[in-house]
Amino acid sequence: MTTNPYLVFQNGTVILPDRILPDGVVVCRDGRISEVGERRAMATASSASYIDAGGGFISPGFVDIHVHGGANADFMDGSEEAVVTVTRAHARHGTTTIFPTTTTGSPEQITAMLRSGQAVKQTDQVSNGARIGGVHFYGPYFAEEKVGCHLRSGRRDPDPDEYRRAFDLDIIRVATCAAELPGAEAFYREASRRGCLVTCGHSNASWTEMKRAFEAGMRHVDHFWCAMSSVPSIRARLGTPSQGSMEQFVLMHDEMSTEVIADGCHLAPELLEFAFVMKGPARLCLVTDANRALDMPPGDYRFGPKEDGEWFKSDGKVGFIPGGGLASSVVGLDTMVRNMAQLTSARAHEAVRMASLTPAERVGMDREVGSLDAGKRADVLVLSQEFEVKRVFMGGVEFAFG
Ligand SMILES: [Zn+2]
Repeated sequence: MTTNPYLVFQNGTVILPDRILPDGVVVCRDGRISEVGERRAMATASSASYIDAGGGFISPGFVDIHVHGGANADFMDGSEEAVVTVTRAHARHGTTTIFPTTTTGSPEQITAMLRSGQAVKQTDQVSNGARIGGVHFYGPYFAEEKVGCHLRSGRRDPDPDEYRRAFDLDIIRVATCAAELPGAEAFYREASRRGCLVTCGHSNASWTEMKRAFEAGMRHVDHFWCAMSSVPSIRARLGTPSQGSMEQFVLMHDEMSTEVIADGCHLAPELLEFAFVMKGPARLCLVTDANRALDMPPGDYRFGPKEDGEWFKSDGKVGFIPGGGLASSVVGLDTMVRNMAQLTSARAHEAVRMASLTPAERVGMDREVGSLDAGKRADVLVLSQEFEVKRVFMGGVEFAFG
């Protein structure tokens, strides 16, 4: 472990947003990236700490905009201890900027989650793991028929008093609502005004509802093909002629981004490939959507708050809802990046971009994090050639895995 403010990462392939740099060097000073280039072009200094990448990758830290838990804690547990348990677990998988994500729950549970996230964000210690970029206000405004693994009694229609108070805490950076709910457009407008990435999820919205949502500022859809509408689901709801769904709306509009859960359990390789080819690496994000069973043995766990969240089963590879369906992932972003690189036509730098710069751009943090560019925070990973996380640096300080 090193705390030298002057770091030189070398003996590895540097991953840039648009290409790789074989045998590259990344220099960091005082917590910021100061230089990136080819090894022979760089001066050496005896005062630097040299970090040997061992012939693997030197990568930007990952950014996860949709994540619920890990290591037996869920952000909805509502305590600072739970938050730190999760942020530390994800740092071990290469996530350096994280957006704790709410589920359905009572107003009190959601407020407790927002406050605990805010308290940990303010401490800003590398030992706390992945740094909190902001909260993803995801539940509770889900469509009843698309609630998925979330507790049904904890969902509701948008309530302006509730969400204005939540936005006033100044911690929400991503905001989800199902577009067909009464009051959805007002929610989207308010979220937009507060500078959030505005997203539609857990929704059975039609093309017409998506169009209205887009006009109100919606620009993203949560986990593509999971808990979202399709042409048949809209036909079942609204009859014939068959109408467009969230799927067609996202694929048709360049401004729309989305995300995939690339754990190999939610989506078959051809769908990962399809999403990558159709949206491209600048509009497709990799997210974990991980729950508390990440890095835990197979068994029964609660999704969301530990006192009353819905039960699901983990087999160590993915979560299952009793009676059918999946209950989100139990693996980290390192696995998602590896799967995209190995199962689709995405090249290494494209797979990494979807887990770093693309989500950073979508939430408006790309001046600060998301790529190995001079001036950005020194959030740097040393990865093996198989994308195993070897070492993690945040702001130029090494994170101790222990
Ligand atoms: Zn989720």
